[in-house]
Amino acid sequence: MKYVDEYRDVNKVKKLADMINSQVRRPVYKIMEVCGTHTASIHKFGLKSLLSKKIELISGPGCPVCVTSDGYLKNSLKLAKNRNIIVATYPDMLRVPVEGGSLEAARSEGADVRGVNSALEALDLAVRSAKREVVFLGVGFETTAPGTAIALEAAKKDKIRNFSVYSAHKTIPEALIALGRDKGLALDGFLLPGHVSAIIGMEGYRSVAKKVGLASVIAGFEPVDILLAILKIVKAANVGATILENEYTRIVTKSGNKQAQRLLKKVFIQTDSIWRGLGVISGTGLSIRGAFGGFDANKKFELPKEKVDKALAGGCLCAEVLKGRITPQQCPLFAKRCTPLSPKGPCMVSREGTCRAYFEFR
Ligand code: SF4
Ligand code: SF4
Repeated sequence: MKYVDEYRDVNKVKKLADMINSQVRRPVYKIMEVCGTHTASIHKFGLKSLLSKKIELISGPGCPVCVTSDGYLKNSLKLAKNRNIIVATYPDMLRVPVEGGSLEAARSEGADVRGVNSALEALDLAVRSAKREVVFLGVGFETTAPGTAIALEAAKKDKIRNFSVYSAHKTIPEALIALGRDKGLALDGFLLPGHVSAIIGMEGYRSVAKKVGLASVIAGFEPVDILLAILKIVKAANVGATILENEYTRIVTKSGNKQAQRLLKKVFIQTDSIWRGLGVISGTGLSIRGAFGGFDANKKFELPKEKVDKALAGGCLCAEVLKGRITPQQCPLFAKRCTPLSPKGPCMVSREGTCRAYFEFR
């Protein structure tokens, strides 16, 4: 299959791994993969086993479900318990455990919670359920936020007043700056996420390169993509160079998707946002602008302000996993009390979650 076979070619993969290993000059290279799908690919294709032990691939906060704060989840449960409200959200959100249950548990107790694949599907549900309120839980990065913006524009234009969005959308670059400045992590570089980059383009990371000065390379999700990016990062780290490069040119352009960027600016305003594990990161939240205020569930239902998460109940160490401070195997619950069938924390729920990827390909 074009764009797959050549990027999974075993000979190319081995050659690239050898090239990377021959470049190793230092005791350790710390490279963070920011995207959950990169984590899954690295494990699925056994890439760590091909690389020198001196190359540490650290999983970052790239799963939107995982980084959504407990406060947001508690407010979502509160919405679900209101019998006049239908809560619509991506299926992964249903199983995330939070103090007081989960959306799935609320559903089994009679709450009307629906799994949808897009904000437009939730809007359609609102059109078909005129006597009820439909609240879409908008989670995700620059990849899913444009879809939410399209639904909000359509709701405003068609005056669908029983539709609203509770936005937990977040943007990636400022979070990378926070991680890049974390002395405890002491990263050498970032493997930048493919889908987010398709929206914000390579230029979307210019501030990261300027402010933290690491090696950052946009990578696709196949083994050759990932190894090419690692090779560039290792070479740059050897000479202490700051680089910002795009290895995923078959999808990502320099300036990204301008139409989606315009739409995001029109509908959302950048505010501070709480990330599980990382706390408040200024300018990373996408809140709904006043012009769309009638469709903002936060205002419509006067939801309490979210607080920064304390440690998760039951001993889950997701916050540490998301910061790259521990690997999932270092959590005592991993693959024992915590499995995809019985997740004790958000990182075991979504396929983009680090604990889930480590579990599936262990
Ligand atoms: S949306 Fe795409 S780029 Fe973003 S974390 Fe998920 S898989 Fe990675
Ligand atoms: S293994 Fe489970 S309990 Fe442990 S950090 Fe991951 S999600 Fe949390």
